[in-house]
Amino acid sequence: MSAFSNHNFAGEKALIRVDFNVPLNDKLEITDDTRMRAALPTIRKILADGGRVILMSHLGRPKDGPTDKYSLRHLVKHLGELLPGVKVHFADDCIGEKASTAANALGAGEVLLLENLRFYKEEEKGDRSFAEKLATLGDVYVNDAFGTAHRAHASTAVIAAFFPKSKRMFGLLMEGEVASAEKVLHEAAKPFTAIIGGAKVSDKILIIENLLEKATDIIIGGGMAYTFMKAQGGKIGKSLCEEDRLETANELLKKAAAKGVNIHLPSDSIVADNFSNDANISTAPSNAIPDGWMGLDIGPLAAEEFANVLKRSKTILWNGPMGVFEMPKFQHGTRRVAEAVAEATAAGAFSLVGGGDSVAAVNQFGFADKVSYVSTGGGAMLEYFEGKELPGIAAVKA
Ligand code: AMP
Repeated sequence: MSAFSNHNFAGEKALIRVDFNVPLNDKLEITDDTRMRAALPTIRKILADGGRVILMSHLGRPKDGPTDKYSLRHLVKHLGELLPGVKVHFADDCIGEKASTAANALGAGEVLLLENLRFYKEEEKGDRSFAEKLATLGDVYVNDAFGTAHRAHASTAVIAAFFPKSKRMFGLLMEGEVASAEKVLHEAAKPFTAIIGGAKVSDKILIIENLLEKATDIIIGGGMAYTFMKAQGGKIGKSLCEEDRLETANELLKKAAAKGVNIHLPSDSIVADNFSNDANISTAPSNAIPDGWMGLDIGPLAAEEFANVLKRSKTILWNGPMGVFEMPKFQHGTRRVAEAVAEATAAGAFSLVGGGDSVAAVNQFGFADKVSYVSTGGGAMLEYFEGKELPGIAAVKA
């Protein structure tokens, strides 16, 4: 049993760092409440114990202090709906008199949502005295915000030091994220295949380098594949290419060969005469794309080759789409890979999907519940797989 599950919160004020950074439309209505729902199991357990819950989060990127557009006030009503029968209060400040009065007035089984942490510039600066002021609000600190675990901010990392070890812990969401990431990084059953896609090689160099130490196979798709193709002497037409990364791409391929890691590049591509769903399309070898055409998805041959690699995998990590899946004409490759990951999972593989666009893709194609774990933390998951220590995790474990 984990520290969190073992802890009895009766009579305690639990100060929880959640990631309620949800998208709002022009009318300030929540358009996707996934992040709020992800924190509910943690909140419910504390309330069930007879504890009091104080929630702190950031919302958006306010530049100049309090701004109505970024107020967490807009989330109160929906939070109440997600927690039927629970009284949800709001304090229009996250520190000081208003916050402490509201925290002290809180009854057992009640929830208090604090105003946006980023209305204070001290939050992102990781200011110690700001963190200390936040810490006075609770008896126990729970970090359940995996999405911001890679930031050394006041509420995500610095604050932990103001609580004794027995009074600082991860919430259930964070525990799940950390456990599944650790399973992949440290206990991966082999063969272990990493699928890396998306637009840019430059964003994914560190993760590929780190995975060269862990994976047996690395599938490279998406726009970044064409930099590798060109580096190998291929013709890529007007496909996406980072000219300044050609050498890096070749070095990664050399390192992989030296380590015996199989790199799978797409043998063919769906090519288009412009970046549009109305473009004329055709299929071409990924290293022989005609002038004036660009690769916007992996081709049917590559999709089957990738699916075969995935079929024999026991551990799968997926970050980044195989093509411009936002456009229907170029989504087949990403969909086929999602399907193959689901098939491998059904056959007993452990699969973790992390990173904004691949998460969006598995959701869009209806595979989210057919993979082992879908991570809520894009940037945080990426940094974790780059081999970095995340400040939010380190501070609780310290
Ligand atoms: P990233 O954020 O680096 O994971 O990149 C995701 C984006 O890469 C998505 O918006 C995709 O549309 C885009 N993408 C994937 N494949 C290609 C491609 N072949 N050419 C251009 N963009 C692509």
